[in-house]
Amino acid sequence: MGSNRELVAFLRSQAWLKTPSLVTAFEKTDRAKFVSPAYAEHAYLDTPLPTLAGQTVSAPSVVAVMTEALQPQLGQKILEVGSGSGYQAAVIAEAIGPKGRLYTVENVSALFDFARQKLAAYNNVEVVYADGSRGLPDKAPFDGIIVTAGAPSVPKALFDQLKEGGRLVIPVGQRYFQDLLLVQKIDGKPVTESLLPVAFVPLIGKQGFKP
Ligand code: SAH
Repeated sequence: MGSNRELVAFLRSQAWLKTPSLVTAFEKTDRAKFVSPAYAEHAYLDTPLPTLAGQTVSAPSVVAVMTEALQPQLGQKILEVGSGSGYQAAVIAEAIGPKGRLYTVENVSALFDFARQKLAAYNNVEVVYADGSRGLPDKAPFDGIIVTAGAPSVPKALFDQLKEGGRLVIPVGQRYFQDLLLVQKIDGKPVTESLLPVAFVPLIGKQGFKP
């Protein structure tokens, strides 16, 4: 695959990506802009790639499945935990539009700087340097929360910061192998669906793994 358009066509052909507004969001977000220059030639392959400080930008198919599970809508307020390269954040920013608001939290300073620079052009995104396992109580509640690092369990703070009817997408399991979960808040209670096995870097923090 030699272009972003071909990558999106591939994601659709495999049914990773289905919702028309999300197809448009992926088409507007050029993955090559978010990977390290050393890996730019591989940007349109469906594979995770290294970013900085031993962290990774997820495979496009995983970003697609997670975004489909989150179902971001125009005007919504969303929280992302794990800014990393900023690629997933950029896709969400396109999906929620100028009236939406995305808060994306990163706890590694080199990646916080990287993401802030990559996302500077998005007026609806705020990159925050903090432990995202605690959520962002000042900005809660959120229509949706997406965690792009693996957690030992669903952090209570994140479920609490979800609106009624809100969607939380989070890998839960061991340090390097997890199940991707969709947790919906229905009548104040979690309704959980397991989507697929994934291998994310660990969520490090108060309600995550130890460093
Ligand atoms: N969404 C990113 C992928 C991120 S990889 C992308 O599209 O590229 C996971 C990221 O989570 C890493 O950058 C890691 O530093 C970050 N992370 C791990 N624990 C965290 C925590 N407690 N709070 C915020 N970020 C965290």
